Order: sequence, then structure tokens, then C-alpha cells
Amino acid sequence: FDRRIFNFAAGPATVPEEVLKQAAAEMLNWQGLGASVMEVSHRGKEFMALYEEVLQDLRTLMNIPESYEILLLQGGGLGQNAAIPMNLMGLGKNGPKADFLVTGIWSEKSFKEADKYGVAHLAASSAAEKFNTIPPRSTWQLSDDAAYVHYCANETIGGVEFPDVPDVNGKLLVADISSNILSREMDVTKCGVWFGGAQKNIGPSGVTIVIVRKDLMGHSMKITPSIWDWAKQAANQSMLNTPPTFAIYMAGLGFKWLLKQGGVKAIEKCNQEKAALLYNFLDQSSLYENRVTKEYRSRMNVTFFLKDDALNAEFLAKSNAAGLVALRGHKAAGGMRASIYNAMPLEGVKALVEFMRDFERRA
Ligand code: PMP
Repeated sequence: FDRRIFNFAAGPATVPEEVLKQAAAEMLNWQGLGASVMEVSHRGKEFMALYEEVLQDLRTLMNIPESYEILLLQGGGLGQNAAIPMNLMGLGKNGPKADFLVTGIWSEKSFKEADKYGVAHLAASSAAEKFNTIPPRSTWQLSDDAAYVHYCANETIGGVEFPDVPDVNGKLLVADISSNILSREMDVTKCGVWFGGAQKNIGPSGVTIVIVRKDLMGHSMKITPSIWDWAKQAANQSMLNTPPTFAIYMAGLGFKWLLKQGGVKAIEKCNQEKAALLYNFLDQSSLYENRVTKEYRSRMNVTFFLKDDALNAEFLAKSNAAGLVALRGHKAAGGMRASIYNAMPLEGVKALVEFMRDFERRA
């Protein structure tokens, strides 16, 4: 390519051009230090000032109350699949236990990982429906003695999203927001823990955001690795070990960009518009179909299938040649997937719909 593409990758994903340009402009000399941000000490006053600003901007964007700690860790969402049970399961009434709402591959992974540390109880699952829906609330089997209920707010592979924070009778909730963080308004007080990596809606991979209610820290199992012990990290500004400084800097630029767009409320409107454009197109098409229950369709990961499988390879080759890149669905789901996170402009979705319309006409 001799120009920037529209990148529909699920993560790492597209980053706003403005952010990339600023990082490029500051690459050789950040803040007059004669070095880039990735080359200076994380303990230096310049980086520490940046770090505080990054936290403050996230606090503003998500309206995070002071009763919650923000940790910037490593190890990704997958690391937290182990860290969460190690930090929280001990709060179970009769020993370590947690409930899981399994609505896709990611919550299933969380469920399986937690099983290493205590009783992971499957409270609900849509596996039998091929993870195309969320089981009805009336069928959920929540336990009385579980420490918390885990759910995945947006299943990146299936393209299934909870429209609201689920009602779990006031039980402690843990939300995996790896693929919809900052894409829509979320009332932080409704969950005890929110977590996710930066590589979809914020910036590059390498930093994992964990937002945890302060009273939930300090209950970790003895085996908990120090770097994933929330209380220890909180006491050390998430710098028990060398933090991913460049990823944090890039996330900070992502937050500034989002603030400039008008914050989460404004980006949520754009995201709704982008998703509606694509789903409305899919729904009237006789070549493409989305298989997710309408009310649970993801605004972030739009999955679709060509009704004639034989056209898949041609669809991918032609879309790629048109600069509409990374539309192949996850191998576990098949079909196609367009990830349209915060940084995907409306023009990208319009270009995709135009391409798909044209492809259908010729098919
Ligand atoms: N949860 C969800 C919903 C995800 O989409 C992903 C990554 N695609 C993960 C967890 C795992 O995150 P990471 O790759 O940052 O470990």
C-alpha cells in the first residue's frame, strides 16, 4: 500500500492518525529531553508527571470515583484471568469460588483459568447456541457463596455484547471490557472490577487497565505473583517492576484524542452510528448475514457470514486489495468480522459497506 488502509483488525487495531503523527513527531526528542519517552526512567519526574496525567485522563473519561484504584499492569486480559481469582476468590463464603456467565470464547477462557484457583461455577452458558446470544436472565444459576460473578461485556470473537451491566442481585461483578472499554458509557460503580488491554480501543498492546474498588484489594491468595497482586501494585503506583512506558505514553495520547472528540458520550454516538450502518446493510442483504440475537449485537465486532462459503476467499482477496484489511473472522468462529473500535472512522465503515454492496452485485 502507498497510503493508510482501513484496518478492521480485532486487536492490535487501528490507532488514530493524529496519535501516530504526534508520537512520530516526539520520537527523537520528548519534552526536550533529547531522547524518546521509551528511553527515559520510569521514575524520572517527566515520566511520573505523564503517568499521573494518564490516570487522571482515564478517571475523567470513565468518571471513575476516588473509591476505585486504577492499575496499569502487564500480562493482558489473559493475565487477569488468573489474577482475578487469585485476588478475589478468597472472599467466597465457603472457600474460593466464583460464578461465570459464559457467552463466548473469552468468558469461557476466564472460566477455565479460574478453575485452577478454586471452584469456578458455570452460572450460565450460550455454548449450545454457538455463542450467538446471551442466556435469558431467568435461567442464570447464581450461587449464594461465590465471591463474585464474572462476565465479558463484549465477546470479541462472536460479536456479542451486553447492552447493560447485568443484574446479578447486587452480587459483586467483575467485567471483562477488553474490547469495549471507552466505547460506551459505563457506570463504574456497578462493578467491583473492570479490566482490559489497551490494544483495541486505546492504543498499542502492552498495557492492561484494571479498575478495582479499593476495599476489594488486600484479599489475595498467598500464591499470587507480586506483579499481579493488586494491593501490592496499588502501593507502588503499578511500578513494582518496570512498567511498559511506551505503551502507557501511547495510551495517554489515545486518551487525549478521545477527550478531544468529546469524550465517551460523543464516541458512543459515533460507534452506534457505525454499527447501525453495517448491521442495517447486512440485514437487507441476500448475500451476507449476521447470526447474533439482535439486542446483543456488538457495536465493536460485527461478525458476518457469506451465505455462499465458496465466495470467502474472493471476498477477502478483493476487500484487501481495496484497502479494507483484516476482515477474516477468528478461526474459532469462521466467516468474517469487522472490528470497528473507537479509532475506526465512519468513512471506513461507509467504504466497507460500499465494497460489500458492489461485491454482492457482482456475485
Ligand atoms: N478478553 C477479551 C474480550 C478479549 O478480546 C481478549 C483479547 N482479544 C482478551 C480477553 C485477552 O486479552 P489479552 O490478549 O490482552 O491478554
